[in-house]
Amino acid sequence: TSSIKSERSRHVSLSGSGSTDSGGGARADSLDLNSHDSRWPRQNSLSMKEWDIPYDELKLFEVIGAGRFGTVYRGSWHGAVAVKLLHVHSLSDHCAQLDTFKHEVATFRKTRHENLVLFMGACMKPPRLAIVTSLCKGMTLYTHIHLRKDKFTANKSVIVAQQISQGMGYLHARGILHKDLKTKNIFLENGKVVITDFGLFSVTKLCFSNNARGDSLGIPPGWLCYLAPELVRALRPHASLHLPFSKCTDVYAFGTVWYELLCGEYPFKGQPPEAIIWQVGKGVKPSLANMQASRDIKDILMLCWSYRSAERPDFPHLLSTLEKLPRKRLARSPSHPVHLSRSADS
Ligand code: ADP
Ligand code: MG
Repeated sequence: TSSIKSERSRHVSLSGSGSTDSGGGARADSLDLNSHDSRWPRQNSLSMKEWDIPYDELKLFEVIGAGRFGTVYRGSWHGAVAVKLLHVHSLSDHCAQLDTFKHEVATFRKTRHENLVLFMGACMKPPRLAIVTSLCKGMTLYTHIHLRKDKFTANKSVIVAQQISQGMGYLHARGILHKDLKTKNIFLENGKVVITDFGLFSVTKLCFSNNARGDSLGIPPGWLCYLAPELVRALRPHASLHLPFSKCTDVYAFGTVWYELLCGEYPFKGQPPEAIIWQVGKGVKPSLANMQASRDIKDILMLCWSYRSAERPDFPHLLSTLEKLPRKRLARSPSHPVHLSRSADS
């Protein structure tokens, strides 16, 4: 919850009234933060965390990838890790934003769930800002779907979606918004879903907007189709730090992941950003005409993509809906041998 709270408290005049999170979460959270604040004076509590992982103890090997806000290295710290080094040219000038980063990291470190990447620690001494997580084996859903063109059967899609819902349900129950749920941030390790990069959007966007030209809005490829209408409508040059993220915007993004699993491509594929912004902002949804899927499966998509955020289901609800979907192998006749239907399934 602290990530929601810190977002709110920091950007109170900018985040507007679009938030649909319940007040209850915010209340529990303010208690949490207060107790934190009462234990240490704010500045001290934050600087005490700097030695969390001493930078010198980290071994960095090759670059795995360069994302929006930094470079990811394969590294070693008591075993194989992934190290995200943040680009921090002007970050140290923005104390409040550095503070936001530290609060996000504080939230990150409280997560323990099968379907979430293991957070191991952070270096928080500018200009060395790094996040250390376990190294995900396997490939991202993005690689499976868009690069390798692997086909996900309806059954497999449901299993993957259930695990995503479990991880996301856990995050939301702890008051953490993902803010960047996308197939590039979901790994598949021997059939197990591992979600990465939750709750770090403020930092990512911070660095990203620093690089953007003054009057234009830089839109990373493949980002728009995950943005709920209320986010799209709030897009402005410079304003990406203050987008009205909520649990409901995470659910919208989950809808897009669900679409990618089932269709093997992005919604609004091939359309220019302006066209996508206009359509999503107006409530036009991508056509499902070419989607070979049952009514139930399409209904989930339409609910997640509801124009009104309040009409989108929450993750526990999604999970129970997914669990109730008829599975092909369950539809076998009672006399049908189990092993045959299993092998047909895989
Ligand atoms: P994006 O998510 O937009 O691809 P990132 O900066 O998050 O950008 O990641 C950059 C690259 O590093 C990606 O190829 C991603 O798959 C990889 N990566 C990120 N985190 C991990 C991790 N924990 N384990 C293995 N690879 C990772
Ligand atoms: Mg990522």
